Amino acid sequence: MQWETVVGLEVHAQLLTDTKIFCGCSTQFGAAPNSHVCPVCLGLPGALPVLNEKVVEYALKVALATHCRVAPVSRFARKNYFYPDLPKGYQISQFELPILEHGWLDIAADGEEKRIGITRIHMEEDAGKLIHPEVPGSNYSLVDLNRACTPLLEVVSEPELRSAREASAYARKLREILVYLGVCDGNMNEGSLRVDANISVRPLGQVELGTRAELKNLNSFRFLEQAIAYEVERQIELIEDGGTVVQETRLFDPARGVTQSMRSKEEAHDYRYFPDPDLLPLVIDDAWVRRVQSDLPELPDAKRARYRDTLGLPAYDADLLCQDHHVALYFEQTVALHDDPKAVSNWVMGHLLRELNREGAPAVAAAPVTPQHLAALLDLIKAGTISANAGKEVFEAMWATGKQPGVIVSEKGLAQISDSAALEAAVDQVIAANPAEAEALRGGKTKLMGFFVGQVMQATRGQANPQLVNRLVREKLGG
Ligand SMILES: [Zn+2]
Repeated sequence: MQWETVVGLEVHAQLLTDTKIFCGCSTQFGAAPNSHVCPVCLGLPGALPVLNEKVVEYALKVALATHCRVAPVSRFARKNYFYPDLPKGYQISQFELPILEHGWLDIAADGEEKRIGITRIHMEEDAGKLIHPEVPGSNYSLVDLNRACTPLLEVVSEPELRSAREASAYARKLREILVYLGVCDGNMNEGSLRVDANISVRPLGQVELGTRAELKNLNSFRFLEQAIAYEVERQIELIEDGGTVVQETRLFDPARGVTQSMRSKEEAHDYRYFPDPDLLPLVIDDAWVRRVQSDLPELPDAKRARYRDTLGLPAYDADLLCQDHHVALYFEQTVALHDDPKAVSNWVMGHLLRELNREGAPAVAAAPVTPQHLAALLDLIKAGTISANAGKEVFEAMWATGKQPGVIVSEKGLAQISDSAALEAAVDQVIAANPAEAEALRGGKTKLMGFFVGQVMQATRGQANPQLVNRLVREKLGG
């Protein structure tokens, strides 16, 4: 029996607004527990929520980037459930009338391009956080409500993903877009982007869907892939052994690489959704959408295409540079100062990214080698002042000290000798010291060219301009 994997993802993205979705409290991460709270986000009786306009603006940006239809009227609903970090006893979300529907994203996985439907995107508030003290024998938990009421967008895909790879390609693409738009920092470690996966299997060719299990809170792309792969195998084995998959919520244990049952999965009707009477229906007119459209940044796919078609970069370079929009920005700022995109790309990919990927490296924007430093370095190489090899040494020194390349070149004495008078003397010395070889080269043994150039390079401690040495040797010995 051949089985088909069916995956749909629900991605929760925490929005980068300064204040919460229904009150003026700060959304800053890492503040002292319960220091960013007020009657609204504490759920005190009588406190009334007021919608943060920025949240709607961010949702509209996402709509335009994911080809979603914007609902002219959408509504907030109460999702009722009890949890200690949810003081109101309900979460304000959207249910029947979400703000966005019917979008799509193009992904590439396993060498194939594919369009994945987005069912809906809605706005909601986050819950607080429970802290379980790791004190032996402790029988209590602590509640921090700083995160309560911070704005989230929940992006629900169609169950059109057919493998763990496709799922992770989709999640990466979505993250890339959210970060480009500046609406989410995409930081999965801090929980700013959380992925839930609905997974089922069915015999290949069958139309109806199998029973799904939901995997909660996958906080890295690697775990997402591992968890799906494990879960698919578990379900197939279960069915082939005569069992049935039950609808439930499961958790992935990265240490053991397995998923475990957490609780039986609720259905929407378990939440007793109803329209929130404290919030008016949200009305969005075309003028608002057009305003948001007018300052939409260039999106990753458009940028990749421009790097290939206008700047002439290979697809590999364009793809790599555009994966992080801070890196893309760095690249563009450097090209603005040194107009050789391929040379800049080589140095960004080969040297900058290598440094940035080291443990404890700063963010691109805080890199000690700025676009201005790199452009100045490339100017020196292009002008022949230093060799490309010396350039590597200069780059490393710039990274360590933040000094300008010109300063490092003179401090380290790395300038190439491009003065023919100075080099001529060195060439003459080498010829005088090797009369037999000189005679042989004059006589047509041209492979001795390399020998002479090497000798001169050695005599000048590698600082001679190799092209110039070549020319001088040729002039003198006719190689
Ligand atoms: Zn508040």
